[in-house]
Amino acid sequence: MEDWSIEGIEKVQPVAIKQIQSIVLKKRVGHAYVIDGAKGTGKTKVMQFFVQLIFCENPTKNVPCETCRSCKRLKSTNHLNFTEIEPDGQFIKRGQIDELIQEMSKTAIETGRKIYVIHHADQLNASAANALLKFLEEPQSEITAILLTDKVHALIPTIRSRCLLLSLAAMPHSILKQKLIEGGITDSMASTVCKMTNQVEEAKLLAKDELFGLARKSVLKLVEASGKSIQDALMCIQADFGPLLKEKEQAEQALDLLLFAYRDIVAIKASPIAVCTYPDMIHYWKQVALHTTYEQLSKQLEMILHAKQNLHKNMNRTLMMEQLMLNLQEGFTFV
Ligand SMILES: [Zn+2]
Repeated sequence: MEDWSIEGIEKVQPVAIKQIQSIVLKKRVGHAYVIDGAKGTGKTKVMQFFVQLIFCENPTKNVPCETCRSCKRLKSTNHLNFTEIEPDGQFIKRGQIDELIQEMSKTAIETGRKIYVIHHADQLNASAANALLKFLEEPQSEITAILLTDKVHALIPTIRSRCLLLSLAAMPHSILKQKLIEGGITDSMASTVCKMTNQVEEAKLLAKDELFGLARKSVLKLVEASGKSIQDALMCIQADFGPLLKEKEQAEQALDLLLFAYRDIVAIKASPIAVCTYPDMIHYWKQVALHTTYEQLSKQLEMILHAKQNLHKNMNRTLMMEQLMLNLQEGFTFV
C-alpha cells in the first residue's frame, strides 16, 4: 500500500527521530503514542521509521537496515505483527476498531511485539473511540499503538492522555524550498511561497497560481514605485491592484506580501547575506536599506500591520491601500 522508504526523514524531523531512537535504544517502547504534525511534516515517514526500528533485526547506528527480513516484510506490507487502519469515509467506525482489537488479541504467529497504527485518529467516531479507549486501558505488554493526527486537540482527551506525544516540527524553510526548486519552481518564487505556507503541496499550488504571481509582481512594483514618489505609488495601486483588492483574503495576502518586502529590507540592513522572501530584489533592498533607518522601517512595518487590522473593519480597500502608501511615505524620503 505504501512506500516504506524512510530516507531523509532524519533531516526533516531530527528531534522526533532522536526521541524515537532513544526510546528504542533504551528498550522502552510503550503502549501508545500519538504522532502529531501538520500536513506535509512527514508523520507517516516518522511512524514508518519508528515501526521499522522496533522490528528491524539489524539496525545500524539506530537506523533500520531496510534489508533484513522484518524490514522487507514491512516494505511488502505482509508483516504479520503490523496492522494499520484509516477512516472508512468520514470516520473511523466501531467495526474497524473491533476488528483491530480482535486481530491484536489473537495469539501471535510471529513472536515479539505487535504494532497497530491509526491514521487520522482525530476521526474516530464516539463509539470507536470508546472501544479503543477500553483497549488502551488494559495495556498488554507486547502491543503498541501509534496514532497519527494533524489535529491533536481534536483527539478525545482520555485517549490522548494514555499516549506519549511525539510532536513534529513544521518543515524547515530550507528543506521545503529545496523540494519546490526540485519540482521546477524558481528560486525566487520558492523563497516567497515557503513564507506563505509550510506544506509542500499547498506551496506548489500557490507557486503556480496566476493571481498569486500577479500579487507578488504588483507588490514588488508598488514598493519600487513608493520609493520614487507617492504619485507613482498611487498610480500603481490604480493600475495594478484592482484584481488584488476584490476579495478580503486576496487583499490580506497582498498586505502579507508587502510586509515581507519590508521585513526583507530590515533583514538585509542587519545582514547583507540574510535569507530573503524576495531574493530577486536583493540589490534594490540593499539600496533602500542604506537610505532608511531602523526606526523608519519599524514604523512602516507597524503601518502595514495596522492596515491588515483595518481590513477586518470592512473599509474601502482601495482607499485603505492609498492611505497606507501615504503613511509609508511619511518620514521616508528615499532618493
Ligand atoms: Zn532491518
